[in-house]
Amino acid sequence: MRRARVSQSIRELLSDVSVDARKLIMPVFVDEGLNGKREIGSMPGIFRYGIDALPDHLDELQHAGLKNIILFGIPKEKDSGGSSSYLRDGIVQRSIRIARENFSLNVIADLCLCEYTDTGQCGIIRDGYVDNDATLSVYDRIAASYADAGVDVVAPSGMMDGQVGSIRRALDKSGHENVMIMGYSNKYASTLYAPFRDAADSAPRVGDRKSYQMDYRRKKEYLMETSLDIEEGADIIMVKPAIFYLDIVKSVSDHFPKPLAVYSVSGEYSMIRHALDLGILPHETVGEYITSIFRAGANLVITYFALEIAGKGGA
Ligand SMILES: [Zn+2]
Repeated sequence: MRRARVSQSIRELLSDVSVDARKLIMPVFVDEGLNGKREIGSMPGIFRYGIDALPDHLDELQHAGLKNIILFGIPKEKDSGGSSSYLRDGIVQRSIRIARENFSLNVIADLCLCEYTDTGQCGIIRDGYVDNDATLSVYDRIAASYADAGVDVVAPSGMMDGQVGSIRRALDKSGHENVMIMGYSNKYASTLYAPFRDAADSAPRVGDRKSYQMDYRRKKEYLMETSLDIEEGADIIMVKPAIFYLDIVKSVSDHFPKPLAVYSVSGEYSMIRHALDLGILPHETVGEYITSIFRAGANLVITYFALEIAGKGGA
């Protein structure tokens, strides 16, 4: 066995999994109330960008060799209906136009209401409960507005039942048959989202999200969630988070012949980032970590390390 590990170049020759920047997706936070950029306290090295600073950042990503971004918007105004989510000149819609018109990036836009509702919930509240179908009709409006702006892929992350099917019909009806849907098919109610809520200003002000995000103690539910998303028309399926969920990644990859995206979430980034910054872990940990996600079966990985990895020419 050791002959196959004898030198670096032999190890390169015989390796099966490599991390290619073209398969990474960089999250981009755009803040309507911000000029310039501001570092996110819990995620060192990751920033929110004002719309004025967005072109420079996209230029930086493109120059590093990245091909894909996923946009998250932080609006100025929040209300109970999340009405700033589907404005023609909303923060995400404007960002899509900037990316589309000036760069050759695949533009994915996260589609949810938690950044836009005054409750911080991912849907519309009726009688203290997130109303599934009332929320779907808002998601449909958001999807059509993203598509009008020129998005390549919409990525519904709210975990409402039927969201992929509803959005597919809305896109088709508005003449956007070629806009793809990346479903957050398996989004677990995870503690690892905590830094993101700081990044996107989306912490729930009322209750939690356990009535729609998945319970990590259930072993087989992901088979049903993934099947439903595919039946409803998802072009790309997802597992989120990555770390702690690689068993799910492996199984979804084995069972379903659809492109599989895996979201390496904010808490994963923050844990590793802090350990690197403190000198507790060496920088090679990033490569080992992202490789493990691809080895488990991911075809695409959304990661806050994307720029860093691309800048180094791979992991
Ligand atoms: Zn949400």
